[in-house]
Amino acid sequence: MKNKAKHKPADRIQDLQFFGEFGGVNPSISDSATYTFLSAKTMLDTFQGEADGCYLYSRHSSPSTRYLSEALAAMENTESALVTASGMGAITSVLMHLLRAGDHVVSSRTVYGGTYAFLKNFLPKYGIRVSFVDITDTAKVEAAIEPGTKLIYTETLSNPLLEVADIPALSAIARRHGIPLVVDNTFTPLIFSPAELGADIVIHSLTKFINGMNDMVGGCVCGRSDFIEDLRNVNDGAAMLLGPVMDSLRAAEVLKNMHTLPVRMVKHSQNALALARALDKAGLRVKYPGLPSHPQHELFKHMMNPEFGFGGMITLDLETAGRAAEFMERMQDANVGYLAVSLGFYKTLFNAPGKGTSSEVPPEEQKAMGLSEGLVRFSMGLDFDIDRTTRKILNVLQSMQQADGVR
Ligand SMILES: *Cc1c(COP(=O)(O)O)cnc(C)c1O
Repeated sequence: MKNKAKHKPADRIQDLQFFGEFGGVNPSISDSATYTFLSAKTMLDTFQGEADGCYLYSRHSSPSTRYLSEALAAMENTESALVTASGMGAITSVLMHLLRAGDHVVSSRTVYGGTYAFLKNFLPKYGIRVSFVDITDTAKVEAAIEPGTKLIYTETLSNPLLEVADIPALSAIARRHGIPLVVDNTFTPLIFSPAELGADIVIHSLTKFINGMNDMVGGCVCGRSDFIEDLRNVNDGAAMLLGPVMDSLRAAEVLKNMHTLPVRMVKHSQNALALARALDKAGLRVKYPGLPSHPQHELFKHMMNPEFGFGGMITLDLETAGRAAEFMERMQDANVGYLAVSLGFYKTLFNAPGKGTSSEVPPEEQKAMGLSEGLVRFSMGLDFDIDRTTRKILNVLQSMQQADGVR
């Protein structure tokens, strides 16, 4: 491992050059659903996925989604990528494409709520079984593999518990069993390059850090060209046939926002580290991969592209749902940020995943995985003055403690 590509991911994004048809510094936006062909033969070849540079129909691909997918492939250092209408559109397309009745999946038990619900409630309808494992225990992951296991699924940094998956170790397990390792890298774009660490397929929700504006929903799949072409094969490709396609206008916007992603990630990480250190110093139950107290702090450091820091996600355990609710309402009143799901915004967002973004996970299982009902998840914003924000948060916590003392 650590066979880092010569160009770092930020440089690969910086060096992209896509021009508009009149020399525009941004590529022209394709305003067409369908495309003409000069010859019937080229149309036929395109149907068979063979006419390079030709477009057929925008559910298959369009110039605008193509530019964005090239940028994403450059970021993840994969041969190719495919853009989808949402992160779930990417995840479900990959899983539906790779799996069939009778198959089995080994998945991390701490994954995005929608992913968990899809694996737990939806795939069984098609005769597909899933074993959920503690992804930080690689021996357990390997032990869960059966003859019918077709893939290993994990997030690099897990939602909401911020567990770090050992991608090189999981990749070695996947290789031994001849199955792909599928990694959702939504929480840590640029920070981790899972494909360089051995992942076969890398998925993102573009809705979060990558677009960063909270004005759209999108996703992508990055991987080898043959797999991406299979996904959009007109005869049996899940992405082509299920149809989670991103609109060209949106794709053009995401591409523009991607150019500020490296600077945004650095700032998200700096702010999160500053707040996490302050909360830690105040003796609170804070979890952040950049703190030495995080169980996988060393692993994170070993795998990371260090120029981007430890990411923008922090959790703080306030033990009870009531305290978490009060804390979040008071932070919103103090204009620290918004009580809202999602992440990767200029403003800090917070929610209590137990009753929010992970409510798909039943209470017993939340307990088993260590998800306290008082857990508050922060997505740190791009606050220019993080000390001011930190003071506001500490003030809220202090006044809650004082009120507790009086009660
Ligand atoms: C939000 C999210 C998803 C789902 O993405 P959508 O764009 O909302 O469909 C998947 N994985 C993770 C880790 C997420 O945070």
